[in-house]
Amino acid sequence: MQNRGMKKILVTGATGQIGSELTMALRKKYGRDNVVAVGHKRKPSDELLSSGPFEFVDVGEKESLEKAVKKYSVDTVYHLAAVLSATGEQNPQAAWNVNMGSLYNVLEIAREQGLNRVFWPSSIAVFGPSAPRTSTPQETVMLPGTMYGVTKVAGELLCNYYSVKYGVDVRGVRYPGIISSETPPGGGTTDYAVEIFYEAIKKKRYTCFVREDTVLPMMYMPDCLKSTIDLMEADASRVKRHDSYNVAGMSFSAGQLAAEIRKHIPDFRCDYKPDFRQKIADSWPMSIDDSPARNDWGWKPSYNLATMTMDMVQKLSKRFAEGRL
Ligand code: NAD
Repeated sequence: MQNRGMKKILVTGATGQIGSELTMALRKKYGRDNVVAVGHKRKPSDELLSSGPFEFVDVGEKESLEKAVKKYSVDTVYHLAAVLSATGEQNPQAAWNVNMGSLYNVLEIAREQGLNRVFWPSSIAVFGPSAPRTSTPQETVMLPGTMYGVTKVAGELLCNYYSVKYGVDVRGVRYPGIISSETPPGGGTTDYAVEIFYEAIKKKRYTCFVREDTVLPMMYMPDCLKSTIDLMEADASRVKRHDSYNVAGMSFSAGQLAAEIRKHIPDFRCDYKPDFRQKIADSWPMSIDDSPARNDWGWKPSYNLATMTMDMVQKLSKRFAEGRL
């Protein structure tokens, strides 16, 4: 396996909720010219465009992706492009094609070009109704009820296969719902936990698409970035699994989140009108056991419900006051 010493990174899904912030964090850490952002249809932000190289690539087209990898002498890929859970249930065929086709392309390019390392995120969506719903263990029944979950289980198996068969150093975590203040989420079941902040600040009203008592595992973006970069930086001897690690941040119900926001915005009112996403939420874990990630490579989250809510409200209120929300 080649090792140029110097990291040349490519991030797919770079205009997405996680990719947009991960790209900036990686540029800060490794140098702006060493991190290539790959977008697709969504318009990239001015910040993303002006802070380093950017390419438009359909990750379903292997040749186009390969061209970008060769053009920038890439040795590390963070593959974040995907169709998410709620959008995936509206078009399961597209979810399968994009999620599986693109991961296969990335792993094949890693094998053929001898890339140093690949990051690919899985999700708590790998678990279905037959898995324990509290403290869901790293290894348990994985029978998801969504096509998105099916692609994440199959993706984990594929990553593990490429690691064992070809020695590709592929690493991943099962993200819970990610909460962030920069880029809006792109069609997942936990999107309400972000939308609620925008609507609370703009209108003091929100209609939530899951029931008040719906509990799901969540994580604040700084912890999401930390889990990703910590795992990718970990010495190979500490990374014992190449499917994906459970990682936990916090767990709360939609009602608890609304109550926490009310501590900062007392006249905020939240109503609940569950739609098709309730069924997906009901099939997912409420909390996650992430002890293997903690023991193997030292994972530890920094934010809880109170500190995350305070930071979100402060950041979004400032943008609202400046007319930028
Ligand atoms: P997002 O929907 O915000 O962004 C995904 C990006 O993928 C989009 O910008 C889109 O342009 C790109 N994309 C889709 N099809 C493409 C194609 N054919 N070619 C190139 N690009 C394409 O998603 P996100 O929330 O940033 O998620 C990133 C990764 O993290 C995904 O793998 C997702 O499954 C995983 N994940 C996210 C969450 C979450 O709460 N956000 C939770 C669990 C797992």
